[in-house]
Amino acid sequence: MSRDMMPSFELYQPDTLENAVKLSKDVEKSWLLAGGQDSYDWFKDRAKRPAALIDISGITALKGIRETAAGLEVGALTTLTEIANDPVINGKYSVLARAAARVASPQIRNAGTLGGNLCQDARCWYYRSGVDCYRAGGNNCYADTPQGQNREHCLFGAARCIAVSPSDLAPAVVALEGGIVIAGDGGEKVVPAEEFFIGPSRDITRMNILKPGEIVTAVRIPVKWAGARFYFEKVTDRAVWDFALVNVASAMIMDGTAIKEARIVCGAVECVPRRLKAVEDAVKGQQQNEETAMIAGRIATQGATAVQYNGYKIPLMENLVRRAVRDS
Ligand SMILES: Cc1cc2nc3c(=O)[nH]c(=O)nc-3n(C[C@H](O)[C@H](O)[C@H](O)COP(=O)(O)OP(=O)(O)OC[C@H]3O[C@@H](n4cnc5c(N)ncnc54)[C@H](O)[C@@H]3O)c2cc1C
Ligand code: SF4
Repeated sequence: MSRDMMPSFELYQPDTLENAVKLSKDVEKSWLLAGGQDSYDWFKDRAKRPAALIDISGITALKGIRETAAGLEVGALTTLTEIANDPVINGKYSVLARAAARVASPQIRNAGTLGGNLCQDARCWYYRSGVDCYRAGGNNCYADTPQGQNREHCLFGAARCIAVSPSDLAPAVVALEGGIVIAGDGGEKVVPAEEFFIGPSRDITRMNILKPGEIVTAVRIPVKWAGARFYFEKVTDRAVWDFALVNVASAMIMDGTAIKEARIVCGAVECVPRRLKAVEDAVKGQQQNEETAMIAGRIATQGATAVQYNGYKIPLMENLVRRAVRDS
């Protein structure tokens, strides 16, 4: 099997959102393409073979970062490099910039987009290599076996599939109470980020709620979080070009030295970014100190269930949440 050549496909390059929505609904077995950094692997490995690509990268309306009275709007085609370097994001919503700066490598960040990062598929190596596992429509999970390579897999939300959400930006967007703006043939809707992502118990073949004919156009972040205290940390095996073993993103509004409100989210521990509501409730009104952080860390992993080789993620997650609460 050659990994250098992609199979042939029809190519559509709409330059308006309306055309892209229509094509994505009408063209059978089509695939939306933004920066291509998740998609090309699938095609080169022949593990996914769409009949047509709808390349949305020429739609200028989906590009750019706009500050509004209501907060911030980041177009779905904005690159990760642009997000990492943007002065407004760095000044007021820095958790998003820090998450973007930790994705992959500079080359991938130059091409990869916000929409593609949020909509990327699972990174389980079995699935990516094209085996017929549950997520691919088969009747087995190759990772969840005594010999399975499951070091990167989930601690929560397993339901036949134990893959995790691989995105670094998803936890940051959920922590910022982001809304995902979706265009479809019924017009535009805005869905809270935490409802956008779905786990295998709801649909094992998808990682988000998008249906054919729906396109993410932007992410909106409410002004309420502008200038809050933030924390982002991602732990990887290698310093660059690596997915998170666990990451954490948090946003905190303070009242003096007490925590008035917090949103704390971990990635790579569940098939969706895992919002830690119990931790948020526990730290609300508490002093930001080591004691509160220790309690937060302990609560964070309640209910975690490790598989054969990912038990290390439990203390790792505890420590990341502890640091997010203490050091925001
Ligand atoms: C070697 C390597 C390392 C990586 N490391 C990381 C990492 O550390 N952290 C991380 O978070 N990611 C990582 N990635 C994953 C990913 O490539 C990037 O995060 C990138 O942002 C994907 O964006 P894209 O625009 O290139 O996606 P594309 O490949 O164009 O799209 C990805 C998916 O999203 C869908 N999509 C794209 N845009 C939209 C839209 N607007 N509306 C609806 N659906 C859409 C596509 O149909 C496709 O299914 C890595 C990828 C590679 C190849
Ligand atoms: S963890 Fe999910 S994606 Fe991986 S082999 Fe099992 S079913 Fe497939």
